[in-house]
Amino acid sequence: MSFDNLGLSPKVLSAVTAAGFETPTPIQLSAIPLAVAGKDVLGIAQTGTGKTASFVLPMLTRLERGRARARMPRTLILEPTRELAAQVAEHFEILGKNHKLTVALLIGGVSYDDQNRKLDRGADVVIATPGRLLDHIERGKLLLNGIEILVVDEADRMLDMGFIPDIERICKLLPFTRQTLFFSATMPPEIKRLADKFLHSPERVEVAPQATAAATIVQRLKKAPDDAAGKREALRELMREIDVKNAIIFCNRKKDVGIVYRSLQRHGFSVGALHGDLDQHQRTATLDAFRNGTIAFLAASDVAARGLDIPDVSHIFNYDVPIHPEDYIHRIGRTGRAGREGFAAMLVTPKDFKALKAIEKMLKQEIPWIDGATALAETSEASESRTNGNGNGRNRGGGRSRRHKGPPGKSDQVTQPHRNAGNGNGANKRDDHRHDATHSQHKHHGERKETQRPAAHSAPAPVERPARPTAQPASSKGQQGMGDHVPAFMMRPVRIP
Ligand code: AMP
Repeated sequence: MSFDNLGLSPKVLSAVTAAGFETPTPIQLSAIPLAVAGKDVLGIAQTGTGKTASFVLPMLTRLERGRARARMPRTLILEPTRELAAQVAEHFEILGKNHKLTVALLIGGVSYDDQNRKLDRGADVVIATPGRLLDHIERGKLLLNGIEILVVDEADRMLDMGFIPDIERICKLLPFTRQTLFFSATMPPEIKRLADKFLHSPERVEVAPQATAAATIVQRLKKAPDDAAGKREALRELMREIDVKNAIIFCNRKKDVGIVYRSLQRHGFSVGALHGDLDQHQRTATLDAFRNGTIAFLAASDVAARGLDIPDVSHIFNYDVPIHPEDYIHRIGRTGRAGREGFAAMLVTPKDFKALKAIEKMLKQEIPWIDGATALAETSEASESRTNGNGNGRNRGGGRSRRHKGPPGKSDQVTQPHRNAGNGNGANKRDDHRHDATHSQHKHHGERKETQRPAAHSAPAPVERPARPTAQPASSKGQQGMGDHVPAFMMRPVRIP
């Protein structure tokens, strides 16, 4: 299958070839002919599926007719984050290289002047985050009644970020006769309501939900204690044990992105941070430094990192188990791209058991543990019960990654759940650009002095486990899983003698 029969113009096809795209992705195959024909499209697809080109290419074809007028753009693309908006602009640069189109990128964190100049000159394409777009409208710099095509991208993420009222306000300012292309990875009822309201007899195109991780990604879990300093130590162990070229370290909250960033910096890692409290200049500089290898590690939140296209990230480290299982797929999808090999490791504390189960349920597979560890809180009680044959005996297959350098069992520590651990209650609070101001108070909350903890090799000895008569790697010897049911005793705090 090629791009030739999708209805795209010769100029567009030549740019597609120059970009090195040979075969259309499934979403492109389905959506492009519909969009070129002027139909409304409801696309259920995630980042990484090629969905950006699936709306950029037909837009370019359709924009070949007509011209933009000052302050009256012809097309509008709404994106939830600045980074995604900037990436769509890059697509226009590459795929629109044969078109003399003016593209205005209206995102927060940068000056209004350049954006105003572009709008005054007459933008064919406006790519915007909702807040900044509304600012321009309120300042009288922009009229939306010339919009021919509207794209709402990542609608479910817009919902997460509280942008839906803004989107509704914006849509009221658009002509009724426009074409609408609406993309979302999932269709919760609120998004369905929005789609019903904004789309006219849409054609629905759907690519299989990405419930599976790319087969090229090696996934591993590593036990971590609940307390913040111990967890950071576990992260450093992970980063040192594994042969890492570069990595993104995901945290659930931007406050923790800052903390992890400063901690790693203090420990001599070449690291940058990407979260909503940073201004656009800092974010772009950090991303560029990561892309060109000036920094090897990037501590990031989901929203800031969503959809980032960094072609060769060797590792993903999940400092936190994501609250929403689908975020796990997004996160680890940053590595192992385009058929390359990738490695994703996640720290799991005793509190994370439910979230981990949800991820494994979605993946329909268990993720093996580094060091052959199994339980989240390995207790002598649990060990005893297994020795007595009470364990549920499911083998979690904890084979060590072949990149793994550390000695067997090195980080197999008995951990002590901690009531006041730093990542408890607030864990549901997601990174949200709209709450940047509120969160900025945490900015200097910063790195508490790390308590001196024993190094992994001097940690309490692992609980003895019975050897199993299976042909497993030495590192995973004698490890059994817990099955779907977690006995209550497994969740109790452990006292270290
Ligand atoms: P997206 O899902 O739009 O974020 O795209 C993910 C990556 O796939 C981007 O780097 C695109 O440039 C790339 N891409 C999109 N379509 C194709 C294609 N047909 N062939 C090869 N790469 C593509």
